[in-house]
Amino acid sequence: MDSKLSMANYTIITLGCKVNQCESASMAKDFEKRGFSKFSKSDKTEPGYCIINTCTVTQKASMQSRQEIRKAIRAYPNANIIVTGCYAQTEPDEIRKIDGVHHVVGHSDKKNIQETIIKAPLNGCPDSCKKKSFLIDSKKRTRSFLKIQDGCNAFCTYCIVPYARGRSKSLPYDEVFASLKELKNSGYKETVLTGIHLGVYGDDLIPRTSLYKLLKQIEKSRFPERIRLSSIEPHELSNDIIKLVSESDIFCNHFHIPLQSGDDKILGKMHRPYERQLIKKLITKIHQLIPEAAVGSDFLIGFPGEDDNAFENTCSLISELPITHLHVFPFSPRKGTKAAKYPDQVDPKIIKARCKKIRELGNRKKNAFYEKFIGKHVEILVEGKKIPGGFLQGTTSNYIPVIIKGSDNLINTFVKAEVYDLGKNGLPRAKISKLCG
Ligand code: SF4
Repeated sequence: MDSKLSMANYTIITLGCKVNQCESASMAKDFEKRGFSKFSKSDKTEPGYCIINTCTVTQKASMQSRQEIRKAIRAYPNANIIVTGCYAQTEPDEIRKIDGVHHVVGHSDKKNIQETIIKAPLNGCPDSCKKKSFLIDSKKRTRSFLKIQDGCNAFCTYCIVPYARGRSKSLPYDEVFASLKELKNSGYKETVLTGIHLGVYGDDLIPRTSLYKLLKQIEKSRFPERIRLSSIEPHELSNDIIKLVSESDIFCNHFHIPLQSGDDKILGKMHRPYERQLIKKLITKIHQLIPEAAVGSDFLIGFPGEDDNAFENTCSLISELPITHLHVFPFSPRKGTKAAKYPDQVDPKIIKARCKKIRELGNRKKNAFYEKFIGKHVEILVEGKKIPGGFLQGTTSNYIPVIIKGSDNLINTFVKAEVYDLGKNGLPRAKISKLCG
């Protein structure tokens, strides 16, 4: 063994979405169960194993994945370099061309890297700990992420994900509840339920079930104190789910709905199965039942055929509706998708200018949303993030980051606080009025 190498250490480099982050956390957990330690930059050795969990959602993400692989090979020339994730699934041959990569592992084998490649046994581990679920982010002890669904059957024309992750697969009920219980027992106060296409949760299970039915059961079990839902497609966010959230004290008043465009012609070309009218009805309904709800959304700007009129339709939709947070993505043709071959591509300079305009609109909407809470009392889950000057940051159920003054023993507790202004960074500042529980 090379003296510079510690075969008992591992490191994982993660690109991309929350789902990838959950899977990296799950791989890390599996390493630890087998007696490995996480590599730290202060170690005098190199890690024995370096896993790069890649992303390929855009051409840029694929390029960044290649850059990270090369960077890792330069930093750890003696380590076993193992590349997995969506880019490894869709373009394994591209990765094999990179000198220094030892293994390329697709999604289906990702969970078994320690057994099949590293051949590290699970010694003295009870059956319950051998079980691998779609787990969990364990970086902080306040908020965790639980992946309850993977894959997608939708084939939107711009998206490579169905090719990278395959068809939808849901985590069975018993594993969802076992994981929630584990998270609660580990001290987490909030869990975010994530998936690639969360709204179709349960379609593939036998007997078939639904996200709504799962959420109703979770509400009854009351395992975590707070549950946040990640992205749900607009046509899958049912009235039943909105009503359940509005009446529940464990579900956060926060929805993230990927709308992508406000123009019917573009939505059709994207193969998104809804129209502007449905979006309006949906967000109006949320606002009626939960006036203080945070409503975040993703918009894909510069899709082929997006002319000035189509872009204005997106801007007017955002302006009219109580959307509170925007994630803006510039379209870039992704090899292997239908939209990459569409003839009416938009000039990248125009896309850049449109993204800037939409982001400015998004910032104005977010600030207006935060300002509404000045003078109001909010409940915050205080997180570990320490802001210089003895301040802490917490998050409300409706996804407002709030700065409070307080000691570290408030971390991972709920407090009530009165918002008095927005600080220079635009974040609401509040004074604690009551400690909860
Ligand atoms: S719903 Fe559409 S955008 Fe979302 S992962 Fe599936 S194909 Fe991609």
